Amino acid sequence: MCHDLLRTPKFYELLELIDEERAQEVRAAGCSCGGVLHSARYPRKPRGIPRGLRDDDQTRRSFCCDLCRRRHTPRSVLYLGRRVYVGAMVLLGSALRGSLSGRGLGELCAVLGVPRVTLDRWRRWWNEDFLATRVWQALRAQLMPPITDPMPGGWLVRFTWPDAASRLSQALRLIAPLSTVTEGR
Ligand SMILES: [Zn+2]
Repeated sequence: MCHDLLRTPKFYELLELIDEERAQEVRAAGCSCGGVLHSARYPRKPRGIPRGLRDDDQTRRSFCCDLCRRRHTPRSVLYLGRRVYVGAMVLLGSALRGSLSGRGLGELCAVLGVPRVTLDRWRRWWNEDFLATRVWQALRAQLMPPITDPMPGGWLVRFTWPDAASRLSQALRLIAPLSTVTEGR
């Protein structure tokens, strides 16, 4: 997989579409108290979306119950929790970082606009904290043979769609429960 995908408008449109579908489902389901959900988006300034594709008033989809005031934030393939970089960057940047060293690594940092220490921190997260999440425990149980290569590259190569956009968006969809407390982290 190549980082070109992170500069492709169509890819972000696809992620927006997936998030919008999920948001519609959450809204339609309503609140467990019987209340109606109203839009209560909050501003985000995600890094990693190229200039020109990024909205100045980018927001994350979220809802508030009109009875109990509880907030419902749908899972997202665009935002990976509170990270300042978009999820696609955290996933693909970490995977690419694993296959590079020396000058290649320096070039990757320059192209992505992400400092090396950040890439290394993400990789530690994938190979330590992420492995302990319930989301990954459930996914891992379905993978045969087990993944022995470093994450997340070792996982991404298991996706077999011919196009990178499908592979990456599917991976983001599977880990999307990590993106919000509301939907059960
Ligand atoms: Zn409610």
